Amino acid sequence: MNKLNLSVIPGDGIGKEVVPLTLNVLDTLASVHGGVKFEYEKYPWSCEYYLEHGEMMPKDGMAKLHQSDAIYLGAVGNPQLVPDHISLWGLLIKIRRECEQVVNIRPAQYIKGVKSPLAEPNDFDFVVVRENSEGEYSEVGGRIHSGDDEIAIQNAVFTRKASERTIRYAFDLAVKRSGKVTSATKSNGIVHSMPFWDQVFKEVGTEYPNINIESNHIDALCAFLVSKPHHFDVIVASNLFGDILTDLGAAVMGSIGIAPAANINLNGNYPSMFEPVHGSAPDIIGQGIANPIGQLWTAKMMMDHLGLEELGSLLFKAIKETIGEGIKTKDLGGLSTTEEVIDYINAKILTQA
Ligand code: ATP
Ligand code: MG
Repeated sequence: MNKLNLSVIPGDGIGKEVVPLTLNVLDTLASVHGGVKFEYEKYPWSCEYYLEHGEMMPKDGMAKLHQSDAIYLGAVGNPQLVPDHISLWGLLIKIRRECEQVVNIRPAQYIKGVKSPLAEPNDFDFVVVRENSEGEYSEVGGRIHSGDDEIAIQNAVFTRKASERTIRYAFDLAVKRSGKVTSATKSNGIVHSMPFWDQVFKEVGTEYPNINIESNHIDALCAFLVSKPHHFDVIVASNLFGDILTDLGAAVMGSIGIAPAANINLNGNYPSMFEPVHGSAPDIIGQGIANPIGQLWTAKMMMDHLGLEELGSLLFKAIKETIGEGIKTKDLGGLSTTEEVIDYINAKILTQA
């Protein structure tokens, strides 16, 4: 029996409602597989934990996470209880950094039954690979002078190491998919970092002669994601550009409640972390209507990452069929509760296995 140790952090708000229910789905998947068992270490780290303990997670928390095969997270943050900069930096960003999760992955796909705002969604299916450790979000810079002369300077940091590993990840992913990588650039306006990024992209590209490559300026790329999203397969982007593209990806899909994300540790020295794109959604807490699909699609990514692609595919098929058959929560225009969606998906997995 292959035992996999998962660190489970439901976090705040709807994360606490959705995560425990999705663990039932993981157990169902394990039962149909037969040869795998998920063991959960559950951690209550959240804003409420902070109010009680004065910290988002205990001092020895990180060492515990390091022991696990993957981290399965719900949502972090509840600005009514704790300011976001404390909750995010004290837990989410801390884990991303200390577990060296240097690449962020977000797929976007047209799902039948989810109303995309696009007139002709045309079956798009793309993945954004975002550099997650440096770039435009650097702490280099400062402010000088005051009054009318005041100046703020923000430097972007692009290392060869980080650019290369992100771009290489994108190419490796494209090998497993339909074989195309689009790079987000802006070398017509940003004269140091972006030509460098383009150069690294080209260099790494020569190692993958069978992959089609193209570069689009970020402004045009944003427009194309709306006008022809089906054109794209893997998109690789710097930290800021990736941030913009991934929100756009969730928007063209039609709902933030279904979008998944993964923070990947590339060396395997620390675990990767899987979290839905949505936040804690305090406005719908306690109503039983939180959409569990974002969390479940996140679980699918975790299965794939753990080498359980068969279970990942089974789960994803069940998710798509469930939505297609109209079993949807309110945010998708349906009438089902969180639990009804979970029950339906569990039943689907059992009948299809
Ligand atoms: P954060 O501050 O972490 O972004 P948030 O409360 O702003 O958290 P978002 O994820 O940004 O939450 O979501 C915005 C709104 O979308 C929520 O307030 C909620 O109404 C809706 N929403 C988000 N996720 C879901 C979900 N899983 N199911 C149903 N509705 C959701
Ligand atoms: Mg928000």
